[in-house]
Amino acid sequence: MTTKDTKYLSILDELIEKQKGDYSFQSGKILGSMCTQAHPIAKKAYTMFLETNLGDPDLFPGTKEIEEKVIAFQKDLMHAPSSSDGLVVSGGTEGNITAIWLATQLTGKNEIMIPESAHFSFQKIASMMKVKLTPISLTQDFVINLKELEKKISPDTAAVVGIAGSTELGTIDPIPQLAQLCEKRDVFLHVDAAFGGFIIPFLKEMGYDVPSFDFSLSGVSSISLDAHKMGYAAIPMGTLLVREGKWLDRITVKSLCTSTYHQTGLLGTRSGGPVAASYAVFKYLGKTGYQKVVRQCMDVTMYTVEQIKEIGLPLIQDPVMNVIAIRLEHLDDIVNGLAEEGWKVNKIERLSALRLVLMPQIKKKTIDEFIPVLKKICQQVGVL
Ligand SMILES: *Cc1c(COP(=O)(O)O)cnc(C)c1O
Repeated sequence: MTTKDTKYLSILDELIEKQKGDYSFQSGKILGSMCTQAHPIAKKAYTMFLETNLGDPDLFPGTKEIEEKVIAFQKDLMHAPSSSDGLVVSGGTEGNITAIWLATQLTGKNEIMIPESAHFSFQKIASMMKVKLTPISLTQDFVINLKELEKKISPDTAAVVGIAGSTELGTIDPIPQLAQLCEKRDVFLHVDAAFGGFIIPFLKEMGYDVPSFDFSLSGVSSISLDAHKMGYAAIPMGTLLVREGKWLDRITVKSLCTSTYHQTGLLGTRSGGPVAASYAVFKYLGKTGYQKVVRQCMDVTMYTVEQIKEIGLPLIQDPVMNVIAIRLEHLDDIVNGLAEEGWKVNKIERLSALRLVLMPQIKKKTIDEFIPVLKKICQQVGVL
């Protein structure tokens, strides 16, 4: 290609034009997403490994080694035993699908207990596999009701799901109690830490009163966590970790057309780009760097809470992590009004609440710009 290749240039122009229509994380105006700007080193690593295929690791042993290191880092973060193993997946959805696939294979059972706060990926699971979802109600603190769960666990129960950082409110189910119960009843416990996996370990270190949620609890069977959310890596990047590596044999098939002759998990061809990106961020930030990111997000969260209270809006509850929910009437009018001013927030219809996620790209300055707009719109629709 040369700069004289007008076709090439016009296609790029078209792409740039389309991209202008997107909201950007860089603007700071996306306040409703659990994704973020990838770390600069993640972007670099991603492009370097664009052509690698981890579905055929014999061709890319170097990339495979990076993948093993990524798993090792996360095993360490989750206090996983040496017998454990992990699988890179595209995100929390695939992590949950794979965990339930595994649990049904291991147990031969088909009933899954989920808290009402569970991510909508479980609806997909119920539609694609022969599993029956049993929703368990929440307590006043929006975590799974243990008493109800204990009554509902049956001989058909394949797995219980606990959430460590819920999508709606960032709440953490009482995983220690869940783990104890599941161990006693010999049930597979999957912990969905897609969002909280890169937050809770650091909140604990900062002295926050958060429950344990990882493999340090012997009843935890699997954990999914997303590096493309609070891990600062590039989309699509998640991991499913399992307590016993040999369990993965149950979701492994023969694949005669790849050089390793077998393949584990859901996907076939998959890029090493996100894996390399995630590795680069782990190495660059280390646990200390992640700690700093979480500290900053919590600072901004607390700052935002103060501002919201100051203008007189009520919260659903005090935030557990960097997720804030404001109880509001006329949600649609407010969300639309904010969008007209360029701010993207999400609503939780079920709770009549507006949800803000204070990701690393959101600074106090952003909040200083956002709050007056929120106040103005709330006044216009008459909720202030
Ligand atoms: C985001 C999220 C998911 C889904 O993850 P994707 O990466 O969007 O597939 C699953 N569970 C929880 C708790 C989440 O927050």
